[in-house]
Amino acid sequence: METKSNQDKIALAGSELFQKIVAHAKEYGFVFQSSEIYDGLQAVYDYGPNGVELKNNLRNLWWQAMTRLESNIVGVDASIFMHPTVWKASGHVDGFNDPMIDNKDSKKRYRADQLIEDKINEYQNTGQDTLAQKLLSDFNAAQAADNLSSLRDLILEHKIACPLSKTCNWTEVRQFNLMFSTQIGSVADESSTVYLRPETAQGIFVNFLNVQKTARMKVPFGIAQTGKAFRNEVVARQFIMRMREFEQMEMQFFVRPGTQAEWYEYWKEKRMKWHLALGTPANKLRFHKHEKLAHYADAASDIEFNFPIGFKEVEGIHSRTDFDLKQHEAFTSKKLRYQDPEINQSYIPYVIETSIGLDRLFLLTLSNAYTEAEGSDAEGDAKKRTYLDLHPALAPIKLAIFPLIKKEPLQELAMRIFDDLKLDFKVFYEEQAAIGKRYTRQDLIGTPFCATVDFESLEDQCVTLRYRNSTEQKRVPITALRQIVQDEVSMAAFLRKI
Ligand code: ATP
Repeated sequence: METKSNQDKIALAGSELFQKIVAHAKEYGFVFQSSEIYDGLQAVYDYGPNGVELKNNLRNLWWQAMTRLESNIVGVDASIFMHPTVWKASGHVDGFNDPMIDNKDSKKRYRADQLIEDKINEYQNTGQDTLAQKLLSDFNAAQAADNLSSLRDLILEHKIACPLSKTCNWTEVRQFNLMFSTQIGSVADESSTVYLRPETAQGIFVNFLNVQKTARMKVPFGIAQTGKAFRNEVVARQFIMRMREFEQMEMQFFVRPGTQAEWYEYWKEKRMKWHLALGTPANKLRFHKHEKLAHYADAASDIEFNFPIGFKEVEGIHSRTDFDLKQHEAFTSKKLRYQDPEINQSYIPYVIETSIGLDRLFLLTLSNAYTEAEGSDAEGDAKKRTYLDLHPALAPIKLAIFPLIKKEPLQELAMRIFDDLKLDFKVFYEEQAAIGKRYTRQDLIGTPFCATVDFESLEDQCVTLRYRNSTEQKRVPITALRQIVQDEVSMAAFLRKI
């Protein structure tokens, strides 16, 4: 696949670019606001025809990387509802909180920790490194001590104002539990309360022995799962970055106690390599080490991506110790141990978790792909050309097939090619509008190839194959199309590079 050089791409300022990507996602059928005709539901989104294909491809890529490339990782698909005591044992009922603060003038609610993190970024981006360092170390100290009033003091000391009212008229900082609850069964009393899972991981932990025994897994081994998670986020803005219903792709890797530090480093490195193999430039990725560890962790780092609105977490790699399995043992009085034949010992394994948000990966992918390039558009007008530079294996549609004009026998030949290829990869047929317009529409959704059937095709059994990034056009035999496209769009070929 030929790619336009980066120099040809027009550099856009961060938030302007972000707004363009959000608008593009809606206009071209990737992401819609949920219940939009009812004015929407905040922080809940639906994926459109192109979005669902891209999302499925990303999920598939992760799933195959975990369960096919790794011989010692198997999958599960656990339910969203779980026994409510699971969340007591995991610590979520008592401790899954975010510190929130309200601005009294705008009446807007914010996460106190995020206001401070944004200020640290602002200091860093404006060369005020000493202030950034000081705020960071005070922030880490306040977090380590779980001191909510210190967080507020820092907000006041650094004159962090509400972006809307521009005032520092803040309330106290309070904790807010992020779990959604509902009632199960026909009787609504306290004993029937269930939670919408805030993470998929617990479905893996409670199935640890079922999986280990039925799949005859030997430590070290992993269990992978993708699925919906729900969090009543205090501040839910920034499009699909922070949603109340989202999808996680998590893998829990069970290891012998005492070996967790090396496995933690192993998975950190492996996951970073995965992101690089997907084509994300190294200078847009970084690790962020957690100073304040969650109650279950002995080490944790995030992989952050430089979105147009700055570096944000995409994936977490957490060394979760034996906390979760131990808690489930304590709450159920059932043994969750592994009999290790190599050392003839029975133990609760330690766990390294890799946890990535599918929606954030989707946004990362769109951010990387959105390209405005100098040059003429498909109709030859000298203006910028916009296209999605998606890897062909991820593109929603792999090949668009067009009869040059809406006439027989071009239509019939184009439909025959469509029918011949539709089981191999996602193809799309269109006969409306000028050919240039049809190319442009495919560029905008990232289709790597378009094939046009013209009158000459009837004679020479060739089509014009157009490449998205370079806009180059080549005459190729119809019989060669399958192989040319397959070589580029193959998920297996993509995975081989990982
Ligand atoms: P953040 O600090 O951004 O709230 P987190 O540390 O709480 O994230 P984890 O609990 O580690 O996130 O969840 C793992 C992954 O799930 C995150 O790296 C992110 O990609 C995704 N994720 C978490 N919360 C959300 C959300 N509200 N919307 C979309 N994705 C999310």
